[in-house]
Amino acid sequence: MLGRDSAIEIHTRGELQAVRAAGRVLASAIAVARSAVAPGATTADIDAAFAAAIAAAGATSNFLNYGGAPDGSGAFPATICASANDEVVHGIPSSARVLREGDLLSIDAGCILDGWHADSAISLHVGDAPSMDEVDLIAATEAAMWAGIAAAATARRVGDISWAIETSVVRSGRDDGRRYGMVAGYGGHGIGSAMHMDPFVANTGRRGKGPRLAAGMALAIEPMLTLGRPQVDESDDGWTVVTRDGSRAAHTEHSIAICEDGICVLTAADGGVAGLASYGIVPVDLD
Ligand code: MG
Ligand code: MG
Repeated sequence: MLGRDSAIEIHTRGELQAVRAAGRVLASAIAVARSAVAPGATTADIDAAFAAAIAAAGATSNFLNYGGAPDGSGAFPATICASANDEVVHGIPSSARVLREGDLLSIDAGCILDGWHADSAISLHVGDAPSMDEVDLIAATEAAMWAGIAAAATARRVGDISWAIETSVVRSGRDDGRRYGMVAGYGGHGIGSAMHMDPFVANTGRRGKGPRLAAGMALAIEPMLTLGRPQVDESDDGWTVVTRDGSRAAHTEHSIAICEDGICVLTAADGGVAGLASYGIVPVDLD
């Protein structure tokens, strides 16, 4: 069913448990993808490892063949997005893209289990990070994601989450002695019976603005930050989003559920226990 004053899908407890099951499969498959990241591996290798992991769990890909024209042309050709260095999101895995020590790789992936969608992303370095700037970049992106997730525990409107993400980025920048680029135009979304649903969850915003939140909603929260300016462009391949100034970017994402009795991080193996601990939030156990 849909929410009272919006087109946001409202799920029963049983449905949220089903999305959680998809999220657990995704968490495991992303862990497999992470462990396949090494100097000399190609981004196609990472895609293959992920694809095998979800298939083994009985899930299918919601990335493969996403978008494109009615005849299928232009659709996304892989089960993960692999975005390296100045690529922000939507990078296409390739057997020609060999990962090198020091590359910054963002892996965005999803799966469908029993008709329910999950969506999550990680950023990591291939081998050691080339600089503390880049360690900070990933940490600031993860912190912004968790700030947004934590805000969802008490948020009344979508803007409360957006504000929490933005505020975290500004705080991290101040702590780290720089100003992170906050990529606009891309962001989080509702999720459930499809991958991309209402509402759009912007990574900047104002408290008290936007659609009302209610128990039964599932949202993907996904900040993306750059070490330079926030402007991005779409590449000639029709998918890959790159920073205009060539600076490196990071992107992390979890899908979460808003329940009557709290929140659950659907795509975290532990349901969000570790990530929410510093906020004093104990997530709902939907397993
Ligand atoms: Mg994603
Ligand atoms: Mg997403």
